Amino acid sequence: MFVDIAKIHLKAGDGGNGAVSFRREKYVAAGGPDGGDGGKGGDIVFVADDNLSTLADFRYKRKYVAETGANGGTSRCTGKSAKNLVIAVPRGTLIKDAETGRIIADISSDEPTVIAKGGNGGWGNMHFSTATRQVPRFAKAGNPGEELDVTLELKLLADVGLIGFPNVGKSTLVSVVSEAKPKIANYHFTTLTPVLGVVRMGEGSSFVMADIPGLIEGAGEGVGLGHEFLRHVERCRLLLHVIDVSGSEGRDPIEDFNTINNELKVFSEELSERPQIVVGNKCDLAEEEKIEELKAYFEQIGLAFFPIMAPINEGTDELINYVAAELAKLPEIKIYEPDPIPVSELIPETNRRSFTLDVLDGVYVIDNAPWLLKILETVNPEDYESLQYFQRTLQDSGIIQALVNAGVQDGDIVSVYDIEFEFVS
Ligand code: GDP
Ligand code: MG
Repeated sequence: MFVDIAKIHLKAGDGGNGAVSFRREKYVAAGGPDGGDGGKGGDIVFVADDNLSTLADFRYKRKYVAETGANGGTSRCTGKSAKNLVIAVPRGTLIKDAETGRIIADISSDEPTVIAKGGNGGWGNMHFSTATRQVPRFAKAGNPGEELDVTLELKLLADVGLIGFPNVGKSTLVSVVSEAKPKIANYHFTTLTPVLGVVRMGEGSSFVMADIPGLIEGAGEGVGLGHEFLRHVERCRLLLHVIDVSGSEGRDPIEDFNTINNELKVFSEELSERPQIVVGNKCDLAEEEKIEELKAYFEQIGLAFFPIMAPINEGTDELINYVAAELAKLPEIKIYEPDPIPVSELIPETNRRSFTLDVLDGVYVIDNAPWLLKILETVNPEDYESLQYFQRTLQDSGIIQALVNAGVQDGDIVSVYDIEFEFVS
């Protein structure tokens, strides 16, 4: 089964926790704090793998979790950082944010791409001793690794895409001009998996041709096969539009040609404007006059026309040379740039400010504020600026106002998750 779109869940590794520990030495009653930092959690990294041509693996495994960093140890030992989780995908896979559809990355180069970052390890208590606090009995927890749902979408990297009705000879053409061996048979839809063939031109020059399943009427609207395959030719710089000049299946080649182009247009206006070369196949079954007539027709509408007999390589050299020359004039294959992250996505509006306030046993308890949890993880209680930032957050989010409304007095205890502090107006 060919799969070219998949949705998966990624969870990068959490950072390891910082350690609380004190130096123990002979004859030294209370050594200083020596709790080490936690190790970094594993990243989730994507790499292109040319041995893969579908996303089928992702149908059965949908959750990918990288390892947690090791906790810090005694004697200032930093915990071991976790291994990255490397996920191999076919070259040309787009990674999109499942929720917004934003393109996060295009896995087309050999460069590994980090999609979900592991959390940093928490600081051990060795960082927290100050002049007034010589015995810090706390350390920081590791930061959580990034977690997100992504959609993988395969858009093959091919210079040339073959389009046309089923059975017109597309697979046969690829098989004779490249080393690729697609299935060839005298019935529709023998090609269920796109096949990439490298066409070698000698002197080291080559280009990649993609054989995709034949398009049928209604394909552009998702009727039957075809629609999902069109995304594979989206990146192609040039389209070879193959027609059966003999009309051996009782259809008219020009009508076929128009039908396919209409399908392309329905799918994507941009794709329908991609340069096309018309390949008239099955010339052995057609009258010479008919071929001449078609050639004249296509040339008159401004398209190059090449008559061929694919199975015996007749006419294919001329076609391939022409294709190579045209490609040399066209821009490189499109690589998708990541879309910028909209501000609204960084902190979703809905949970930017929500929280609950309860007074329990005289303690003012702030809860149900997941956004604040994230901020707390990064607050360093030892750092003045960090505390200022925390203070500002409480102010901006309306928490201070809510406390005042609830009757908080100076010196009352406010509890925000695992932090407690005395209210100071
Ligand atoms: P695709 O569906 O477009 O990929 O078509 P295939 O390459 O699978 O070919 C469909 C059928 O047409 C097969 O039986 C081929 O052997 C046959 N065929 C392909 N090219 C020619 C040709 O030039 N002449 C003749 N007579 N048959 C051809
Ligand atoms: Mg085929």
